[in-house]
Amino acid sequence: MTEPTTSQLQPMPDDWRRALAVVAHPDDLEYGCAAAIASWTDAGREVAYVLATRGEAGIDTLEPAKCAALREREQRASAAVVGVDQVDFLDHADGVVEYGPALRRDIAAAIRRHRPELVITLNHRDTWGGTYWNTPDHVAVGRAVLDAAGDAGNRWIFPELTERGLAPWDGVRWVAVAGSGNPTHAVDAAGGLERAVASLLAHRTYIEALTDEDPETYARGLLTGFAEETGKRFGDRPAVAFELFAR
Ligand SMILES: [Zn+2]
Repeated sequence: MTEPTTSQLQPMPDDWRRALAVVAHPDDLEYGCAAAIASWTDAGREVAYVLATRGEAGIDTLEPAKCAALREREQRASAAVVGVDQVDFLDHADGVVEYGPALRRDIAAAIRRHRPELVITLNHRDTWGGTYWNTPDHVAVGRAVLDAAGDAGNRWIFPELTERGLAPWDGVRWVAVAGSGNPTHAVDAAGGLERAVASLLAHRTYIEALTDEDPETYARGLLTGFAEETGKRFGDRPAVAFELFAR
């Protein structure tokens, strides 16, 4: 029997028109996922971003009030590089996002507004695989996204959304989790990789605070490394991996 860790990844479904990516922080999509998003928007698909926070607690040397506006700007620029024009912020508090009905409701509302068939989020599990611990915001948001994909279709769970004119949307067919330690599917990243590097580089202030390395060398090295590693399980093509939950 083949070990799950070495098995080949399946191609992601491509019979869909609209995707919504919902993550905790500015930069969450750029650390690996943006190359897939570039390839989807190239193919004429609509992708929108929703961020639970503005990442205001993400830069040690910058106080949150100033950091929030800067990271919002960087995120909007970063999205534009891969063909995403719509970026919304839910304004939960960075670092202390709470899993619960309030978060599920905000995400269900976003799903009802955008009516996607595919929803994308970041790793909701305790670790990145092995013992490399995940952060609490990613776990809270990822779990809430998986739950809200169902909540969005049920008119009785958050009736206040219907009263606000957001009709139920039961059309989410898959939730794809990026950065999972247990990926099942992948997307060819070759065509989107250069823009993914530019998209990560748009978070320049964040990256400069994070590393002394030249930002472009850092971004290219990291994303090329991820894509090649995933490619070992996807026909040796650079790729972005997802754990796919069908609904
Ligand atoms: Zn994050």
